[in-house]
Amino acid sequence: MDGHITIPDVREESENRFRISMPVQYLKGVGPARAKTFAQLGVETVGDLLEYFPRDWNFLPKLIKINQIQPGKESAVIGLVESTDYQSYRRQPLFEAVISDDTGVCRVIWFHGGFLRNQLAPGQVIMVSGKAAVYKHQLQLTNPKFVVLDEEHHRSADYFSGGIYPACKGLSSGQIKKIIGRVHQAADKLVPEFYDKIFMKKANLIGRKDAFKWIHLPPDEKKLAQAKRRLKYDELFLMQLGLALRRYKVQHYSAAQPCICSDEIDSRIRKRFPFLLTEDQNNCIAEIVSDMSRKVPMNRLLQGDVGSGKTVVALYAALLAVANGKQAMIMAPTEILASQHSLSIERYLRNSNVKRVLITGGLTGKKRTELLRRIKSGDVDIVVGTVALLQEDIELRKLGLVIIDEQHKFGVEQRAQLRKQTTPHCLVMTATPIPRTLAMTAFGDLDVSLIKHSPPGRGTVITRRVERKNRLKAYEFIRERLKAGKQAYFVYPRITTVEQDNDVKAATDEWKYLSTEVFPEFTVELLHGQMPSVKKLQVMSEFRKAKIDVIVSTVVVEVGVDVPNATIMVIEDADRFGLAQLHQLRGRIGRGQAKSYCFLFAETDSETAKSRLEVMTRSNDGFEIAEHDLRLRGPGEMFSTRQHGLPDLKIANIVDDFDLLVMARKNAFELVSQDPMLTEAEHKNIRQALLAKFGDALGLADVA
Ligand code: ADP
Ligand code: MG
Repeated sequence: MDGHITIPDVREESENRFRISMPVQYLKGVGPARAKTFAQLGVETVGDLLEYFPRDWNFLPKLIKINQIQPGKESAVIGLVESTDYQSYRRQPLFEAVISDDTGVCRVIWFHGGFLRNQLAPGQVIMVSGKAAVYKHQLQLTNPKFVVLDEEHHRSADYFSGGIYPACKGLSSGQIKKIIGRVHQAADKLVPEFYDKIFMKKANLIGRKDAFKWIHLPPDEKKLAQAKRRLKYDELFLMQLGLALRRYKVQHYSAAQPCICSDEIDSRIRKRFPFLLTEDQNNCIAEIVSDMSRKVPMNRLLQGDVGSGKTVVALYAALLAVANGKQAMIMAPTEILASQHSLSIERYLRNSNVKRVLITGGLTGKKRTELLRRIKSGDVDIVVGTVALLQEDIELRKLGLVIIDEQHKFGVEQRAQLRKQTTPHCLVMTATPIPRTLAMTAFGDLDVSLIKHSPPGRGTVITRRVERKNRLKAYEFIRERLKAGKQAYFVYPRITTVEQDNDVKAATDEWKYLSTEVFPEFTVELLHGQMPSVKKLQVMSEFRKAKIDVIVSTVVVEVGVDVPNATIMVIEDADRFGLAQLHQLRGRIGRGQAKSYCFLFAETDSETAKSRLEVMTRSNDGFEIAEHDLRLRGPGEMFSTRQHGLPDLKIANIVDDFDLLVMARKNAFELVSQDPMLTEAEHKNIRQALLAKFGDALGLADVA
C-alpha cells in the first residue's frame, strides 16, 4: 500500500454538462426538495455551490507505516484488521482491534467502543489517525479517528480531509460536501482565469481554478492558504472594480456646472468667519474648490469629528456656489439639526445679501407654496432643511451644490436619488470617524477630505465611569457646576419604561425624579424624538438661551446640537450604547473653552461592556474609538455591503484582509482607467464575473 491517497475521482460526473448557471436541482443527489434547502443557504446554481466555501477544514494526515509509529506522536496508518475483541468486563469497557501492514502490527483501542462491534470486523482495511502510546511494551493507538476504506481504498478517505460547511436543518456539512465534491472537480472547465501569468506571479496569486479546487479539498495547509488568498483577492478586486466603475460613470456621464473661485471670492467668503480657519479646514477647502471648478460633479466626503469645524467648510462651499450664481442646498437628518445649521449660517451671514431659507415641517399652506416658488425661481440662494422635507416636492432651477450632513448615518441612498434629477456637486459630511477600511469600501467611490484636528481653544473633556455607590457624589458635583451657571445633558436609552426591561432607565421617569428630587432648584426639561417638533425646537432654543439648566433626553441630542455652555453630560446605562454613539453623544460637550465632564453611569458585570467604557474614559480620539469599535464588533454591524449596493463578501474580511484590499483597490482603479468598459478581450472574464455579481447596475450590459 502506498502512503499517498489519491483524491476521489469524479470524472464520470464532471463532463461538460455542468454549467455555472445550472440550477443545483439538476445535480445528482439534489432534486427539488433539497434545492429548496440549498436556496435557504443562498445556493441556487452550480456557481453558487462552488462559492459556498467551507467554514473550516480537515486535513488528510500524513500516512506512515506501522513500524514508523512513534509513541507520543499523532500517527495515521492504513492496516488490515486482523482481529477484534470487545472487553465489556473491564471497569472501562473497551473495543480492541489488531491491525497489520507489511511492516508490523499495532493494537488499536477505543474505550466504551461497544458500538464498534457492528462496524469493525476482521478482513476490513481501515485508516486510523490518533496519538500513539506504549502500553505493556506494545505500541497502541488510543481512541483514534478511523474510517473503513472501500475496495479502492480511497473513496472514503476524504472523510479525514476537506471542508466543513456551514450547514442547516435538512442539509448536513457532510451532505453539502458530497454534492460540492460532484462539481468541484469540474472547476477546470467552469472557472475562467482573470489575470495573466505575469501579474499572478508578481502578486503572488495562484490560478483561479486551483483556488476553487483547493478551497474545498485542500491537499495541505499551504495550498489552502494560497487558495484563500486568491479567492479573497478576487472578491475584493471585483468589489473595488464595481466602485471604480460607479465612480467612472459619475465622472464621465454626468456634467456639472463649474464653480470657479478667485482671490476676491475667497477673501469675501473668509471675511464672514470671525476666526482664522485651521490648517485642516484650509486643506479641505482647497480640495473642494478644485473639485467644484471642474465640469465633473464633485463627489466628496468631508470627515471630521463632532465640533471639528465641518459646517464652516461646508458653508464656504455653499458660498462659492452662490458666488457663481448657483443655489446650494443643505440637508440634515433631523429638524433640530437643520435649524441648528440654519442658526449658525445666520450667525456667519448677518447683513449679507445671500438669501437663505430654512424649510421646516411647521411651514404649511400658502406660505410654503410661496416659498417653494421662490426657491424654484432661483430667488433663494441657500436652502436648509431635512432630507425628508427636501425630497418631496422641491425644485431648484440653479442648483449647483448639495451638502448632505449625515452625521453618523451612513447611506448612499440619498446621494443616488439626487443624482437622478440633477448633477450638482455633492458634499457629504459625516461626524463618524470612518476607519480606513470603510473609507475604501462603503465610501469607496467618494473622495475623502479629512479634518483631523479641531479648532484651538477647546476645553478638555474628562470622562469617568460612575458606579452606583458614587452616584450621589456625581449629582453633587453636577449641582456645583449648575450653580456656577453651566448646563447639563442627561441622556437615557429609552423614552419610557418597557415592562420587560425594568432595569433600563427611561427619560420620562427619570425626568420626574431629577426635576423634583435631585435638582428641584433648577429648570429641568424633557426632550425626546416623539415630541412634536415645535416643542422640540422650543426646548432647544431655551436651552441655548440658558433658560433651561438641564435637558433630560434620549439620543436626539446626539446629532449636532451646539451649546458651548453645556459642559456636563451624564449618560445613563451607558453600556447600552455603542462606542460610536457614546462618542457622538460626548461630542455635545467640550465645545466651549471650559473644562467639560462626561459621566458614564453603568451597572454592568460584563467584561466587554467594561472594556468598551474603558476605551471611552481613555480616549477622545474618534478614529481610535472607531477602529476599536470595528475590531470589537467586526465589520458586519458598521458595514453592510448590501446597504451600500455592493455584493456580500463571502470569504474576505475588510479588517483582517486590509493589505489585500489595498492591493485590489489599486489594481481595480488602474484597470478602469485603462479599459473603462472592460471591452478588451483579455478582460472578458472579469467583465462577465462583474455582471454576475452586480447585475446591470454598472451599465456594463450594454457592451457585453
Ligand atoms: P462640526 O460641524 O464639525 O460639528 P462646526 O463647524 O459646527 O463643527 O464648528 C464647531 C464650533 O467651532 C463652532 O462653534 C464654530 O464656530 C467653531 N469653529 C469652527 N472653525 C473654527 C476655527 N477655525 N477657529 C475657531 N473656531 C472655529
Ligand atoms: Mg456641525
